[in-house]
Amino acid sequence: MIKDTVNFTKMWLFGHAQSNNPTIMLTLKNNWMKQALLEARKALADNEVPVGAVVVKDDQLLGRGYNRTQALTDPTAHAEILAITSACQTLNSEHLKGADIYVTLEPCAMCAGAIVLARISRLYFAVHDLKTGACGSVFDIVREPRLNHTVEVYSGIYADESEQLLKDFFERLRNNTIVECGYS
Ligand SMILES: [Zn+2]
Repeated sequence: MIKDTVNFTKMWLFGHAQSNNPTIMLTLKNNWMKQALLEARKALADNEVPVGAVVVKDDQLLGRGYNRTQALTDPTAHAEILAITSACQTLNSEHLKGADIYVTLEPCAMCAGAIVLARISRLYFAVHDLKTGACGSVFDIVREPRLNHTVEVYSGIYADESEQLLKDFFERLRNNTIVECGYS
């Protein structure tokens, strides 16, 4: 059972935007998810599970990353972790208060934990991960009230495109053109 996330296409109606013009805000957010999808395509090109992420604040890109668990032989090298690390370096700060993270797939438990630790304000993800998603699908770490920080969660931007990338990857995997897969 998926815990409700705010449907993105309705989100701006509730006045979440920083601009009074909902069309402009929708375009901006779509553009950032497009950037995350570009990152995911880099992972696909490297035969990694195609997941990409960008961290943004005040409509400025702070960090980007794509899944590189195989390339770096590091199970923690998920797109979100690399994007958060990069954003923290950009700001020279361990916290990213007021920042948004855009991810093409619902973050896992590790990445959800990192998003909380980084104090990221808003999470936008494209497609739910019904097997390991930790932002509403299996767990809901980013909205766990016992933690000292919670995150606003929105889903569904470019969900079809993100899902297609993952399908392409796993189809290749089934055809044995990829030996191993990094995400469980
Ligand atoms: Zn992760």
